[in-house]
Amino acid sequence: MLALDLMSNTLDAELSTKARILVVEDEEVIREMIIMGLQEEGYDVFFADNGRSALNMLQNPEFNAPDMPLDLVILDIMLPEVNGLDLCRFLRYQGNTIPILILSAKASETDRVLGLEVGADDYLTKPFSLRELVARCRALLRRQQFIKSTPPQMVRQFKDISLFPEECRVVVRGEEVSLSPKEYRLLELFMSYPRRVWSRDQMIEQVWGADFLGDTKTVDVHIRWLREKLELDPSQPEYLITVRGFGYRFG
Ligand code: CA
Repeated sequence: MLALDLMSNTLDAELSTKARILVVEDEEVIREMIIMGLQEEGYDVFFADNGRSALNMLQNPEFNAPDMPLDLVILDIMLPEVNGLDLCRFLRYQGNTIPILILSAKASETDRVLGLEVGADDYLTKPFSLRELVARCRALLRRQQFIKSTPPQMVRQFKDISLFPEECRVVVRGEEVSLSPKEYRLLELFMSYPRRVWSRDQMIEQVWGADFLGDTKTVDVHIRWLREKLELDPSQPEYLITVRGFGYRFG
């Protein structure tokens, strides 16, 4: 137990001294509070007070270099120039996978889902405690560290579903299931980002490609087929969940 504690302390120390965090917040009081809290944890903290300069910093190789990248962005939604949601959407559209923690003044479910739909990794509503913010940051950095250190092409496992990417094979509750190529790619997409909400258009773009000419009903049909193959009870899905008004998520 002691050894484990020591190990996790060492890991924390290692992560916190290395991690570089960009804080994007236009309200000075909140920004200063966040910066102080993170610096106390030993992180390297940088800041921007509007969306455009945040984007410039993220795209500046002198500042966000491959061998010394930023590790996390804390992003307010209501910002001058470019707002946080647009910035987040743009980064994901570019294929930038940096962990993003969104801050919002509104607590409604719609905002939460919207934040995650644009590709944010986590979400915190103002007012928040500094302690919680730091804990969330630590969790995101740990997860990122884990992703970096996990070899690709591993078996992907979620509850009773195992996906073997190299063989395009899927095993559900111990039994092999046969999926069409589109069903397989859809499942692979979902399992690569558990709990992320995907809109039908995003799913089409990822699985069918941008030149797909059919309509978004195609997605619903494939989800229904997948549910029949994966779910114990397709009418009460536990894997492929409908997010009303937005699309679907996995798990
Ligand atoms: Ca703001």
